[in-house]
Amino acid sequence: ATAARKSLTIGLIPADGIGKEVIPAARTAIEALGSDIPTPKFVDLIAGFETFTRTGVALPEETVEVLKNDCDCALFGSVSSPSRKVVGYSSPIVALRKILDLYANIRPVVSVSPSPDEPSKVDMIVVRENTECLYVKQEQQTFGEHGKEARATRLITERASTRIGKMAFELALARPRRHLTVIHKSNVLSVTDGLFRESVRAVQTKDPRFEAVTVAEQLVDSAVYRQYFPIYDVMVAPNLYGDILSDAAAALVGSLGVVPSVNAGDTFVMGEPVHGSAPDIFGQGIANPVASIRSAALMLRHLGYTEAAHRIDNAVDSVLREGQLLTPDLGGTAKTQEYHISLQKNS
Ligand code: ATP
Ligand code: MG
Repeated sequence: ATAARKSLTIGLIPADGIGKEVIPAARTAIEALGSDIPTPKFVDLIAGFETFTRTGVALPEETVEVLKNDCDCALFGSVSSPSRKVVGYSSPIVALRKILDLYANIRPVVSVSPSPDEPSKVDMIVVRENTECLYVKQEQQTFGEHGKEARATRLITERASTRIGKMAFELALARPRRHLTVIHKSNVLSVTDGLFRESVRAVQTKDPRFEAVTVAEQLVDSAVYRQYFPIYDVMVAPNLYGDILSDAAAALVGSLGVVPSVNAGDTFVMGEPVHGSAPDIFGQGIANPVASIRSAALMLRHLGYTEAAHRIDNAVDSVLREGQLLTPDLGGTAKTQEYHISLQKNS
């Protein structure tokens, strides 16, 4: 992560649903508050279910090429997932994570404190492994003696568990509490989750810097329950548990509409709100853009633009603190569009 670039090219992939409404707000935030970014450039790119219905492919080759060759980072909105299997369609975000080797999904869950000098009640990071587990999507349906049977393969490798473990240790080391909880269910899945847990723990023994981190373990089910207590700092989990855990954690900070994430690898980073395409509110202009705006900040911080990230987060914090500009998910009546105006005023 170095900020020594002459310019920064950011791919914008709003994709489907409210992604189209919230990604423009993230762009506005970068334009208005990204003072330490040398000439930010934006490239509009397409992907998603709508792209699929229009062109027959969910992730056009050109989008991938431009991301790989011309972009330093990207912001992704959300994809609508058809509830039934559509022949030829598969999720472009799952594919992008694989193609760009974005093996870590980093999801900070932070509540806004009543005043800037008070600590946040909730302040933790869920680090989700992004490339394997049940998401290898190897499912088969067969007929057995008693009718239909379905099976799914769950892949856990030492390599992927080790690199996500390293990422989690680095993040924990950079925080005041230096606490890491390994999330698993190895009482039931002793082979797969056993390997995950051992691989993450082994990371600590190979790097003396990580001795400063306190490591704990928690079964995923009780972790979902116990996160109501302020015991967690950084949590690291296999793909599916991490997904569920971070959605559940969103409830602690008021709305899915405020929780950001980045998909990070060793060479590329992509910001993405934790929420989905929210078909129930799409088109009404009331989607909360905070998750996307914070995802932009997180992405910039990952790239070393701490000043811009700080300014964006501060602007969002003060908006949420004032409570004048809340979208309906947070109990207000504000529109997505009003954020653009507020961000520009804040700059
Ligand atoms: P998908 O299959 O795309 O995930 P979903 O129906 O699961 O769609 P989500 O986007 O995951 O919907 O959202 C879950 C709930 O949270 C919905 O009721 C949605 O309206 C709400 N929600 C999610 N994101 C936002 C947001 N940014 N602003 C306001 N409400 C949101
Ligand atoms: Mg959803």
